[in-house]
Amino acid sequence: MAIKPAPKKKFKFSFEIDQEKCMSCAACEWECHRGGGSGAIYVDDQARYAIDQETCNRCGRCSRACPADAIIRVTAA
Ligand code: SF4
Ligand code: SF4
Repeated sequence: MAIKPAPKKKFKFSFEIDQEKCMSCAACEWECHRGGGSGAIYVDDQARYAIDQETCNRCGRCSRACPADAIIRVTAA
């Protein structure tokens, strides 16, 4: 019998970037890729910082590092 993969962990919240507040300083990207995050922050096709929710482990490093308070914690519906 084939072994089924474990179901993906569901999170009760996510982090999202408020594009109105973001000033593209890259502090969040540094934290996410080099400061212990899971590498979820990327630059999207409109040259904006974005978070890949599938990769994000909700560590909060990006949010704490953001000087503009642009990364907000959003509770899942
Ligand atoms: S919460 Fe952590 S893993 Fe998710 S985007 Fe922020 S730094 Fe990266
Ligand atoms: S740390 Fe904040 S202001 Fe800087 S790029 Fe990330 S979201 Fe934008």
